[in-house]
Amino acid sequence: MEQLQNYIQGALSDPLGGAWMPVHEPATGAVYARLPDSTPADVDAAAKAAREAFPAWAAMPAEERARHLLRIADSIEEQRDDLAAAESRDNGKPLQLATSVDIPRAAKNFRFFATAILHASSEAHATDTEAINYTLRQPIGVAGCISPWNLPLYLFTWKIAPALAAGNTVVAKPSEITPMTAFRLSQICIDAGLPPGVLNIVHGRGAEVGAAITAHPDIPAISFTGGTQTGAQIARTAAPMFKKLSLELGGKNPTLVFADCDFDAMLDTVVRSAFSNQGEICLCGSRIFIERPLYETFRDAFVDRVRALRVGDPLDEGTAQGAVVSEEHMQKVLGYVALAREEGGRVLCGGERVRPEGRCADGWFISPAVIEDLPFQCRTNQEEIFGPVATLLPFDGEEDVLAMANSTPYGLAASVWTQDITRAHRVAAHLQTGIVWINCWMLRDLRTPFGGMKQSGVGREGGWEALRFFTEARNICVKL
Ligand code: NDP
Repeated sequence: MEQLQNYIQGALSDPLGGAWMPVHEPATGAVYARLPDSTPADVDAAAKAAREAFPAWAAMPAEERARHLLRIADSIEEQRDDLAAAESRDNGKPLQLATSVDIPRAAKNFRFFATAILHASSEAHATDTEAINYTLRQPIGVAGCISPWNLPLYLFTWKIAPALAAGNTVVAKPSEITPMTAFRLSQICIDAGLPPGVLNIVHGRGAEVGAAITAHPDIPAISFTGGTQTGAQIARTAAPMFKKLSLELGGKNPTLVFADCDFDAMLDTVVRSAFSNQGEICLCGSRIFIERPLYETFRDAFVDRVRALRVGDPLDEGTAQGAVVSEEHMQKVLGYVALAREEGGRVLCGGERVRPEGRCADGWFISPAVIEDLPFQCRTNQEEIFGPVATLLPFDGEEDVLAMANSTPYGLAASVWTQDITRAHRVAAHLQTGIVWINCWMLRDLRTPFGGMKQSGVGREGGWEALRFFTEARNICVKL
């Protein structure tokens, strides 16, 4: 059985307390590896290593830092197939998805920020003829990066890469549920010659290791992606310590389908936006609003397409829906399907545990569920399920759909389907979400601001926003 280790001060090490936890394969339900059950003492060691590595890393010419990060990107690309297999095994997602999306994007994250830092500039302000002000953007010190289980290496590197590119050193924690590719990344960094202490990865429980990172006095910036409740807990610890905080939290994203949309293009993408990665993407559109004249046509075609999604072994090429990430999560999702029934919903397809034949018989699979007849204010339509469950709601006109779409405490992303470009802009301006896709979904340009409004987060990732977060802006005023 493989044994994972922490990555501290440039070397792999066992947890100081000598305790370990099991790692499960969602597709089989079996334990297949052990990971460190680290304690605050491990976080302390990591923070010390990061603090000591900081001055040299921050002072290193940007071109040299970029070369380090580009070497890491190259290695991730070279090891794409192995990393994708590890990601699929650890998370349950289809191998094909890990190969085409997760791992290439992890490499791209490093490449993007390695080159971005070479083009970064800061502002100057001439105060009439009296003075010149210029802004210095300097790295903060040690950044804490905490990421979730749904897109493990993809989201882990989305934080680490800009933090390192900007000249910070990092103490990072992946989810205990999906630690494998973060562990592989440690080996990649060692092989790529990343200086010791620049990146440190501590494995373990959120409430132990995550909390210790958040509370550590030598870690002045925290970048967190995960659930809204955890985000609130992190903010409670970090705020009185005046830490910089970036929070990417939950979502309950609306998809708005107007009757004048390009139906075929819409249908393909809306199926994908609801159920990609078993619905375990923070950007998935789980509430689908359909303009009333199109409602029945949409419902019938959508349900046909969803029924055809093959649920099964993530390693099979034809698998569209792999396993959900854990038994606990499977029970949570099934609990929401039961709640939807209690709330008066009609389950049109799916929503049941699936036991594929063969090696995956004990795995955690759910058939993708489509539910109608629920009011927009009910719990099923207000709370984040984060699984393969989509609800259908008819609407009458823009005002009606905007009121329902904006009714949740979340505000991460939305997509709008219409061929009326004026309406598309108008509706986009009134949606209370950080991201709006018009006639597309998850089309990403890494330069754009990424993040949510309301309880979906604080701050933005992506492009210059990320580099701004990971630097301290200082004004220098020179009297002329
Ligand atoms: P959690 O909030 O449970 O965990 C996220 C990370 O935080 C994990 O590494 C977890 O560790 C750690 N953690 C848990 N408790 C604490 C704590 N008290 N202090 C510090 N760290 C802690 O989220 P999930 O992993 O369940 O991920 C799903 C959530 O993430 C969904 O709500 C989803 O919407 C959101 N998400 C948001 C995205 C966005 O960009 N807005 C993108 C992707 C997901 P451990 O797992 O070891 O407990």
